[in-house]
Amino acid sequence: MFDKVLIANRGEIAMRILRACREMGIATVAVHSTADANAMHVRMADESVCIGPPPAKDSYLNIPSLIAACEITGANAIHPGYGFLSENARFAQIVSDHNLVFIGPTPEHIRLMGDKVEAKKAAISIGIPVVPGSDGAVNDADAPAIAARIGFPVLIKAAAGGGGRGMKVARTADDLMNAISTARAEAKAAFGDDTVYIEKYLEQPRHIEIQVIADSQGNVVHLGERDCSLQRRHQKVLEEAPSPALNADQRQKIGKVVTDGLKKLGYLGVGTVEFLFENGEFYFIEMNTRLQVEHPVTEAITGLDLVREQIRIANGAPLSFTQEEVTFSGHAIECRINAENPVTFRPSPGLIKDYHVPGGLGIRVDSAAYAGYRIPPYYDSMIGKLIVHGRNRNECLMRLKRALDEFVVDGVETTIPLFQRLMAEPDFQNGDYHIHWLESFLARTAKDT
Ligand code: ADP
Repeated sequence: MFDKVLIANRGEIAMRILRACREMGIATVAVHSTADANAMHVRMADESVCIGPPPAKDSYLNIPSLIAACEITGANAIHPGYGFLSENARFAQIVSDHNLVFIGPTPEHIRLMGDKVEAKKAAISIGIPVVPGSDGAVNDADAPAIAARIGFPVLIKAAAGGGGRGMKVARTADDLMNAISTARAEAKAAFGDDTVYIEKYLEQPRHIEIQVIADSQGNVVHLGERDCSLQRRHQKVLEEAPSPALNADQRQKIGKVVTDGLKKLGYLGVGTVEFLFENGEFYFIEMNTRLQVEHPVTEAITGLDLVREQIRIANGAPLSFTQEEVTFSGHAIECRINAENPVTFRPSPGLIKDYHVPGGLGIRVDSAAYAGYRIPPYYDSMIGKLIVHGRNRNECLMRLKRALDEFVVDGVETTIPLFQRLMAEPDFQNGDYHIHWLESFLARTAKDT
């Protein structure tokens, strides 16, 4: 097993990886920007290396500094977490060129799935159903005919897309060219690539994703689904497993389609295959070749440690369980606690004066925050995740409500009150929602808050 792992990330996910390493007897190296010198992940790690100034491009995205940090500390592997360099194929390649292990999929698979046009083609070739759309990238001249063939409304999406950026709806032919040029401009600014493609815009689907894990011996296992339909600006806000919309038969069927497909691809590591689900049908939208923010809901209902398994697989070990051994128990919900105004969603960095996390049966809080911590303004506003598990969805909801009421974060604004408001909504209580539900709920209740 690796002696020492370098964690190329910060915040709660750095803590998550550090904890798995510690349980496995692996030493840890934290890296940090100058803004994070006092961060919890730095304090908790066995060693730490400062890799640059606050802007992520100069620190957490600085590949030479990360490689140098491995060389200085003698780390043999790098865990990228999520975000930052986790889906950067060039980084994965550079890591292995330096005789270090990248804890993640091969550079080829990261590259393939990072280009959403290529990813869709790959999905079709391995038997995974996709959203109807253009066969590949579209140019402006062909766009009207392609959109007319697909049928309005259509969605213009960036090939290099991520985080919901570079996505624009065209309801009619008149909106089309405008939507394309806005999507291109957004994609160019965010990803340096203005390639776009067109998809049928689904009106009221759910976002349901399948967690998979594959070892170097060719075993591919799925760990069921997560329902991530509660979104704001195409970004996930709350996730749950199992999905209130799926039955065991549908779960088993889509799980098999996905694992059979990824076997054909020779996939290695953890991955998430994301689908839109409407009228009983699944439509692939993309695959994430990394650990997801919402992985703990899967851990809660399966009892498995995904990070531990990732590290074992990267070291060449076979999966420690078979598909038949995976069982699902109860229900789990995760709330992303962001330091943001709960109505306007304006980031609220600053000093956390008082901090108390809920506890008790079925409660997990993954966070790097503490009383006296100053949230820097440079990074993502997520300061923690509250994950609640119960024997069934109803028990989970009651426990979640209790946990939210116990959570104290003083000094900055957080999204906790948003989740408290959600708890009182019959549609949410009944699990009756789709990807646009949260935005309409926010619009409907904005005047009362
Ligand atoms: P990103 O990589 O930017 O996160 P995704 O392809 O994963 O983009 O899509 C993010 C979200 O955007 C989805 O969860 C869904 O809410 C919405 N979305 C994507 N494709 C479609 C579509 N064809 N129709 C309707 N909504 C979509």
